[in-house]
Amino acid sequence: LPVSKPGETPVRALTIAGSDSGGGAGIQADMRTMALCGVHGCVAVAAITVQNSVGVTGVHEIPPETVAAQIRSVVTDISVGAAKTGMLSSAPIIEAVVAECADLGIGNTSKGQEIPLVVDPVAASMHGDPLLRSDALEALRDLLIPQATIVTPNLDEVRLLTGINVVDSETQAHAAEKLLELGAEWALIKGGHLRSSAESRDLLTNGTERHELTSYRVQTGHDHGGGDTLAAATACALAHGYSVPGAVTFAKRWVTKCLESAYPLGAGHGPVSPLW
Ligand code: PLP
Repeated sequence: LPVSKPGETPVRALTIAGSDSGGGAGIQADMRTMALCGVHGCVAVAAITVQNSVGVTGVHEIPPETVAAQIRSVVTDISVGAAKTGMLSSAPIIEAVVAECADLGIGNTSKGQEIPLVVDPVAASMHGDPLLRSDALEALRDLLIPQATIVTPNLDEVRLLTGINVVDSETQAHAAEKLLELGAEWALIKGGHLRSSAESRDLLTNGTERHELTSYRVQTGHDHGGGDTLAAATACALAHGYSVPGAVTFAKRWVTKCLESAYPLGAGHGPVSPLW
């Protein structure tokens, strides 16, 4: 991606997400990705997790009005070329984010919004720790997904949102259709968690265009924050003016490199690493 000249204001993007005290995923992964993609990252903190490489032991939610106020403060002064959501934790936070974004022109560009929104529908950590209250799923599906320029679920999140268990390219296509029916402009169904496949095959579609993005499966036990990194890199490329397919192509290459250089950390799973 292009970089700005020293002293020149770079492209900006906003992440609305949760903090990972272990520094592997969430806001910390987003900010690292943005910095390395030549983007000034702004943050609306939605929740704080007590987390290390072994798991999540606590969640502290930020009051919804404070989440909304962070978004407004940033967008009305600094302005951003793209935004992304990660862990939003509760229905009231999702409702506040959706209302604030809609009012500020952040969202589904096919419905007239100006600033593209990448929705990473975070529901649980790789250890299975919940990052979304069970009663917030409806708000995520019915309020946030329709606002998405692109939604980027992994296969567990696809199952939660659509009820479809993706096992092959046919069920993957069916799941993408369902997400578009829910109102997203583009759906990216990531195949990375389909452990039986030798390749990681992702499907990106808006109902008219259809792109298959294939990469070899990187063998690593350290992939914490991989989903966040992919969504953040997509937001960076969108902020730089890429089309959605161009942004996802860039982000997929970026996350593959990050998986190749993932490192062990603590007693559990280490993070994907943008340090290569
Ligand atoms: N913690 C936070 C704050 C996150 O936003 C996420 C993912 O989006 C995770 C943890 C989970 O990351 P992983 O599924 O890679 O463990």
